[in-house]
Amino acid sequence: MEKVKPWQAAYPEQIPTTIDYDEKPLQTFLEDAANRYQEKKALHFMGKELSFNEVLTESKKMANYFQSLGVVKGDRVAIMLPNTPQSVIAYYGALMAGAIVVQTNPLYTERELAYQLNDSGAKIIICLDILLPRVSNVKSETPLEHVIVTRIKDYLPFPKNLIYPFIQKKQYNLVVKVEENAETHDWVKVMERAQPTYQPVEVDPKEDLALLQYTGGTTGFPKGVMLTHYNLVANVQMCDAWLYKTKHGEEIVLGVLPFFHVYGMTTVMNMSIMVGSKMILMPKFDAGDLLKTIDKQRPTLFPGAPTIYVGLLNHPDLKKYDLSSIEACISGSAPLPVDVQEKFEKVTGGRLVEGYGLTESSPVTHANFVWEERVNGSIGIPWPDTDSKIFNMETMEEAEIGEVGEVAVKGPQIMKGYWNRPEDTENTLKDGWLLTGDLGYMDERGYFYIVDRKKDMIIAGGYNIYPREVEEVLYEHEGVLEAVVAGVPDPYRGETVKAYIVPKEGYTLDEDELNTFCRNNLAAFKVPRLYEFRDELPKTAVGKILRRQLVDEEKKKQQEE
Ligand code: AMP
Repeated sequence: MEKVKPWQAAYPEQIPTTIDYDEKPLQTFLEDAANRYQEKKALHFMGKELSFNEVLTESKKMANYFQSLGVVKGDRVAIMLPNTPQSVIAYYGALMAGAIVVQTNPLYTERELAYQLNDSGAKIIICLDILLPRVSNVKSETPLEHVIVTRIKDYLPFPKNLIYPFIQKKQYNLVVKVEENAETHDWVKVMERAQPTYQPVEVDPKEDLALLQYTGGTTGFPKGVMLTHYNLVANVQMCDAWLYKTKHGEEIVLGVLPFFHVYGMTTVMNMSIMVGSKMILMPKFDAGDLLKTIDKQRPTLFPGAPTIYVGLLNHPDLKKYDLSSIEACISGSAPLPVDVQEKFEKVTGGRLVEGYGLTESSPVTHANFVWEERVNGSIGIPWPDTDSKIFNMETMEEAEIGEVGEVAVKGPQIMKGYWNRPEDTENTLKDGWLLTGDLGYMDERGYFYIVDRKKDMIIAGGYNIYPREVEEVLYEHEGVLEAVVAGVPDPYRGETVKAYIVPKEGYTLDEDELNTFCRNNLAAFKVPRLYEFRDELPKTAVGKILRRQLVDEEKKKQQEE
């Protein structure tokens, strides 16, 4: 018989420790919701609202169009959009057509975009007009066959749709004319031409992929995490069970976490569609806009990340707005300071609890209870049907209570593996256990705590940055002899990217030069904010640069200041 896990004793009777997961394609969430909620509003975007029926009809049209472009089961369709109605419609449309969705960060540079398109083999991309130049510039070096272009204004109500292009022109200093041809398609015309019918595709939910989600995982370059329909359906059902007071058909969900990251995709987009709530779509995070939106739209559920909550609490106009509609927030992606949690709860009167997860687990595996007692500073306990343990890193045996080791998780939300990388999969999935690369411990009640990251990934302002990727760019600069990049503490962004550089002999390098170089090759959020030039870098006996030592030095320096 299965051993009872210590955390199970803490479960309140309203939350099951095990759930009967629906073995169905992910897109049935939308079909079921449209059946149930029909003309009820599903999306709110800058004043424009779409009902469940409308979202379903448009998604079917997208599926129809994808199929007319030759998409068959298993083809990859990339989506490069901020949170907009199009990002929801393209996602469900691609799934209906039998495709695997590849989410692409709209901040990617050409180099990053080309890498992801080549690695995933995406045939089609849906992007915003302002992203088209970037897509066009890399298209010929990738397998892309078709580009579907949409604009923010396509879903704005009158007269915002007329005004917005001028705002956009001012903001980006860019006007993109979309000329349709055999390979370029205009979203508005697609919607006019397509029929709301498509050829249903047979899906085996436990085997077939719904998503290839790029992440650096425990090491190195971004890899495609293969998530099945079942993985994602299960994680949404767990989320619904955890938030058991959620009133289906009545909630309003704040959609500020980007859907191109699995955290926003599961806990906001799919969850909101599943429970029939109205989703408030925010294409980007701006604390002032967010405060106004909460005041006006009255959201009840607000999944977020610590930097988002910190941003709101520190906004000078915080007191002007009424945030009392907020009932429940789960914070993930980085540690949530207790002080932030308490202040936020005081301001809103709602609950803010910490959870944990990673791309490889769809993403959520642990959380604190929303309505019951919680343990501050802990990521909480494993979700239903989720097992977790700490491995001693030397022996790879289960660690003792309180002993720090690598956090491992097992459950229906765990990925199938990494796309085309059997070796990485083998190193990360051991007998069904996903090795998270995070270091932590468990207490006697089964609460888990994260203490550090084994992997070197930097999380700055909620964005993941992989040092190696930044280092590779730095090494391409002709004046750089050695470069190492580390995440150093930053009071606002959690961490910030710092580059330590040893210049080549005879070279005088300066920050501005390296900064410009990095900006041309990396998305802005990955560009180092700090540079330090040294004659040499600390290394191990085999020559591996001691990144941790540099971080420790920086911490010490900051403490002394
Ligand atoms: P991602 O794959 O982008 O979702 O990043 C996952 C990583 O974010 C995890 O492996 C952790 O290192 C980190 N993370 C997520 N939630 C937390 C948390 N509550 N506390 C500390 N780190 C977290």
